[in-house]
Amino acid sequence: MKVVTDDDLVAAMKKTGSASGAAREVGISERTARRRIGKLRSQGTRAIPLARVNGCVPPRILIYDIETSPNLAYVWRFFKENISPKQVLQYTDVLCWAAKWVGNETVVVESRENDEDDERICRALCEIFDKANIVVAHNGNAFDQKTMRARWVSYGMDPPSPYKEVDTLRIAKHRFNFPRNKLESIANYLDIGGKMEHEGFGLWTKCLEGDKDAWARMMEYNVQDVVLLEQLYMKLRAWDTRHPNVSLYYADDETRCVVCGGRSLKDIPQDSHTSVSIFSACRCNDCGKVMRYGQRHKLGKNVLRHSL
Ligand SMILES: [Zn+2]
Repeated sequence: MKVVTDDDLVAAMKKTGSASGAAREVGISERTARRRIGKLRSQGTRAIPLARVNGCVPPRILIYDIETSPNLAYVWRFFKENISPKQVLQYTDVLCWAAKWVGNETVVVESRENDEDDERICRALCEIFDKANIVVAHNGNAFDQKTMRARWVSYGMDPPSPYKEVDTLRIAKHRFNFPRNKLESIANYLDIGGKMEHEGFGLWTKCLEGDKDAWARMMEYNVQDVVLLEQLYMKLRAWDTRHPNVSLYYADDETRCVVCGGRSLKDIPQDSHTSVSIFSACRCNDCGKVMRYGQRHKLGKNVLRHSL
């Protein structure tokens, strides 16, 4: 009987991307394969993919932006008005959205111009979210994400597949002191372009009145925002200390940048210090991110921690 070595099992996992596929490949039971793979993973064998992943395909990072309609309501006053639900004529919904994948020039834009409501375009965006590993928006944590969830749940939809969120406004507030934190202001400050000029709130009212030119301008504005947002994201991502670890999405043994997945890393002389350890540090030659290695070093003595 042929002996299946650990190397055989790892190679089969790499080839098939699943424990059941590996079991078939090497001719052992699935249960045995799972047990041995679990043991190898616990010993730190990184070559074994945790799930069927696309080999070395980078994670799918979605850049998106939504435009919404205003709430419509009867009001008695212009200041300090407290609007009861009975005064509301129509709640806000999504007028249009634009989205693109990082690394792909195509920008997809959908509007509800010819629809009765925003259900079709909300469902379409959810389908794109299902394919995303990471989604990026400016003020996405407070606005775009929550608005979309409200729309999705209002249509009885289930949550999209798991993804990580990056909010460029959060990075701006957390890591920088820009004069203003609006997308256009930061882009202007960094000299990476500007938003499309438009007539202001009039554009929204014209769209709601069915003005076709206004809808075209709204979508153009939306697309330009997404293009600008991608540039801002690329500029800020190396500074983000809470960025999802992109290297985890690659099913290979390479040491990769945590932000861009690049393999060109250069050791730097300065160490990275935490309260109890010292780590060697490196810089990504592709995006500039500074990282520390997982293995601590230079601990030739007992290190005390703070007592409680
Ligand atoms: Zn990088």
